[in-house]
Amino acid sequence: MKITPSNIASSECLFCKIVAGDIPANRVYEDQFCIGFPDINPQAPTHLLIIPKQHIASTAKAEAEHSALLGSLMSAAAEIARKEKLNKGYRIVVNTGDDGGQTVNHLHLHLLGGRHMNWPPG
Ligand code: ADP
Repeated sequence: MKITPSNIASSECLFCKIVAGDIPANRVYEDQFCIGFPDINPQAPTHLLIIPKQHIASTAKAEAEHSALLGSLMSAAAEIARKEKLNKGYRIVVNTGDDGGQTVNHLHLHLLGGRHMNWPPG
């Protein structure tokens, strides 16, 4: 894999600290590529984050070489949704950059469920 500033684990990165176990999180899911844990500020009855173990700042920094990892995030979200019994549906959100509302610069999927979602988002 090509090493770029966007995929070197940063000692300043909150989610890298969670991956390393330096900040606690209840890992409801883990595989070789990613972990899933509850969002600290839930916006729905079920609100989980799925993050790659590897530091990628955002989808804006994702490249073709990350495609397996990106796919694994989606299939992890689907597996977690089944485990959480989100049978009526759910929403997967990936905020990217300032305009996308991203505040933590480590790529993550929000998995939201347990209530009806509105469209368009704010
Ligand atoms: P936003 O903050 O606008 O939702 P992001 O898409 O970057 O932007 O989401 C970052 C998410 O990380 C937020 O939903 C926030 O509540 C969550 N978060 C921040 N710190 C923690 C933590 N220690 N454990 C779990 N979730 C966290």
